[in-house]
Amino acid sequence: MPLYGAIEAGGTKFVCLVGTGPENVRGRVRFPTTTPEETLSRAAAFFQQADEPLLALGIGCFGPVDLNPDSPTYGYITSTPKPGWQNVDVVGYFQKTLGVPVAFDTDVNAAALGEHLWGAAQDVRTFVYITVGTGIGGGAMVEGRLIHGLIHPEMGHMRIPHREEEDPFPGICPYHGDCLEGLASGPALAARWQEEPHRLPADHPAWDLEARYLGLAIANLVCTLSPERIILGGGVMHQTHLFPRIRHVVRETLAGYVQHPALLDHIDQYIVPPALGDDAGIFGALALAIQVTRSA
Ligand code: ZN
Repeated sequence: MPLYGAIEAGGTKFVCLVGTGPENVRGRVRFPTTTPEETLSRAAAFFQQADEPLLALGIGCFGPVDLNPDSPTYGYITSTPKPGWQNVDVVGYFQKTLGVPVAFDTDVNAAALGEHLWGAAQDVRTFVYITVGTGIGGGAMVEGRLIHGLIHPEMGHMRIPHREEEDPFPGICPYHGDCLEGLASGPALAARWQEEPHRLPADHPAWDLEARYLGLAIANLVCTLSPERIILGGGVMHQTHLFPRIRHVVRETLAGYVQHPALLDHIDQYIVPPALGDDAGIFGALALAIQVTRSA
């Protein structure tokens, strides 16, 4: 049986997997993201040891990345603040070392594709996948296609109302201060409350504030993309008590203007966790590999 390779390339860790889907995983490894040289060669070595030759490799990558196939820097990580990783040719490296077709997208677009193929978005063609963890990112599929557009969506950096009299925390985004990621990512929670987020009890005021910021962002996405579903993954969303609070904020923010049963009677099936859980990203990368061989 032909096998595919997948990489979830994150700023703190890499996950590599060989298989054909969630039901057939032949090998899997994770290791910390260090220098590009060390990290990429470790990934390549893992795939070179696979039992069967790979048909293709899919990579869901932290960014920003260049997704324009006509660009001379296609497949590069571009302007990331992560030291040493600016202008790294990720796709070129694996094409050279493995000699197989390489599919490349953002980590969150990959996760969206994984959820579309095997998870919580199998029955819809327009939806958003958002991860809330060390950063906040969003991927989107519209009418069955992942959005790239100008560069790729950077939903984590959208601006949302920040009432400084209620929340004087200035935010931690090095570019914008109090953008969504600056206010509501895991590190923002830790900095605001001086506590690791997973140690904050469910009745801590941190969570109502968190739900408000995420709910406002999602209401904006409902108004701009008209998604048929919103999937919320990432470490912060392990706090499952956030889901009902976020749904409440979304409904309140939309104030009855966007009328659809999904937002009224069925909002608990509209704003949902990823069915693949923390594996949405790695299986999404695998889905990218499968997709590239189908389109070839
Ligand atoms: Zn920002």
